[in-house]
Amino acid sequence: MTTDAVLEARSLTVGYGAMPVVHDLDLVVRKGEVVALLGVNGAGKTTTVRALAGDLKPFAGEVWLNGRRVTGPAHRRAKQGMRYISEERSVFMGLSASDNLRLGHGQRQRCLELFPELKPLLGRKAALLSGGEQQMLTLARALSAQPEVLLADELSLGLAPLVLERLLLAVRAAAAAGAGVLLVEQHVRDALEVADRAYIISHGKVVLQGDAKDLKDRIGEIEGTYLAGAELGLTEA
Ligand code: ATP
Repeated sequence: MTTDAVLEARSLTVGYGAMPVVHDLDLVVRKGEVVALLGVNGAGKTTTVRALAGDLKPFAGEVWLNGRRVTGPAHRRAKQGMRYISEERSVFMGLSASDNLRLGHGQRQRCLELFPELKPLLGRKAALLSGGEQQMLTLARALSAQPEVLLADELSLGLAPLVLERLLLAVRAAAAAGAGVLLVEQHVRDALEVADRAYIISHGKVVLQGDAKDLKDRIGEIEGTYLAGAELGLTEA
């Protein structure tokens, strides 16, 4: 396994039914880094993340977590230090914010340190929270368990730019505390602001990878070539 890698995809091929949509993909996330996975709609980002999370079985290739090859389902990977935030907001709408945090098996205190905004909302049903507050709850729950690997698919979906910024800061802080983070994001420029490295995929293949700083310097060309049609980030270059 690559030195310091906490998560690795090796020659990963995965898809639906008999149809592969991600082909022979290699990807590494190291301890303490945020890695962005970028691409237009339908490029294969969610499919990749679901295979890494144990939610989809690869057709071929391997997933390595913390130095071990993993083949089991998502709940087993969770026990092995992985947290996966899927595109669908995964709060329990009928439960209070407080009960949602309790279900994360992390420390409630830590959740509230990460997101003090949640304190006055603890008694409120999750269904009555705003989309941004629900997403903070989801992220707080995931991060409070101090995962070694966080997979976050489209944290920003439907959220205001300031909320996204807040969530990305928390993701960055989690990496500073030692987690390896894989971030799928439509807001390419915002993702490159927070990431150390990025992979750009197109038609299920990695077409470009590099340091976020270098990719930011080439953002105009990259958007034109690989991300045409992707929603532009809201952060000014
Ligand atoms: P988006 O940003 O729109 O979520 P993505 O890059 O995450 O896009 P995927 O969701 O991984 O892309 O989709 C990759 C391809 O797989 C697309 O062609 C999509 O139509 C197809 N696909 C996704 N989910 C399924 C499914 N459950 N069954 C069959 N095909 C699927």
